[in-house]
Amino acid sequence: MRLQGKVALITGAARGQGAAEARLFAQEGAKVVLADVLDQEGTAVAAEIAEAGGDAVYVHLDVTNEDDWDAAVRSAVSSFEKLDILVNNAGIWRKGHVLETSSEQWDDLMGVNAKGVFLGTKAAIPEMRKAGGGSVINISSTAGLVGSRTSAAYSASKGAVRLLTKSTAIQYAAEGIRANSIHPGPIDTDMGDQVWPDADSRESAVGRTALARIGTAQDIAYGALYLASDESSFVTGSELVIDGGSTAQ
Ligand code: NDP
Repeated sequence: MRLQGKVALITGAARGQGAAEARLFAQEGAKVVLADVLDQEGTAVAAEIAEAGGDAVYVHLDVTNEDDWDAAVRSAVSSFEKLDILVNNAGIWRKGHVLETSSEQWDDLMGVNAKGVFLGTKAAIPEMRKAGGGSVINISSTAGLVGSRTSAAYSASKGAVRLLTKSTAIQYAAEGIRANSIHPGPIDTDMGDQVWPDADSRESAVGRTALARIGTAQDIAYGALYLASDESSFVTGSELVIDGGSTAQ
């Protein structure tokens, strides 16, 4: 019960890493607001958590929409009375070297992956202040630490998340609000299937890890659990790299 009494809002929670975080946080005692644009899938995950004895509600949230954010935070507070934890997990990936990236594609990736994190942070901090503190967990990527061979705009958007996290950390530390980024390597989710659509590309992703495997959504959820819990009370502005050793070499 590492999150007993805490309320968490998780974006992109209908599937993949967000759903794994929602399930794990609920198992550890948190009340969870699952947010996504995939309403049917998100509602199903919330129902599954509730059936297992957890507290969970689903809200529709397009992270690029400021009004949706206000409504999602209001829904967290009206359902569970406060907000302690925000996991900015929703993200999209699109392939493209610089010359193959249209300005629309750039805007889409920056909109969801970077602006979405900014809007979420802005919407959540006033409620965290009222709660006396909080933890913002931003899901970046190893592509936010080093350049990407496949997607220039994705990498740029994840780099923006890395430094927005540090600014958030230093600007709100005095109020007990922590902010940290997680940098997953290759993780087995629907997005993973887009990034390595065939056996060869998957094998080469495995080959870039030192631990010789693709990670699981659960591998990331455990990192997020640590950053969400009070066990990480001295941790802010940090980068938790969970990549099987990909960027260590
Ligand atoms: P998934 O694609 O499986 O899940 C992402 C979820 O976010 C989907 O439900 C998706 O819905 C949702 N989403 C997309 N756009 C929005 C939006 N505008 N508003 C709200 N929700 C939205 O991916 P993962 O679980 O793998 O990814 C989670 C995070 O981890 C992302 O930020 C990703 O960039 C990051 N990451 C993933 C890695 C991997 O290898 N899988 C590696 C490194 C980082 P929809 O289907 O409509 O897009």
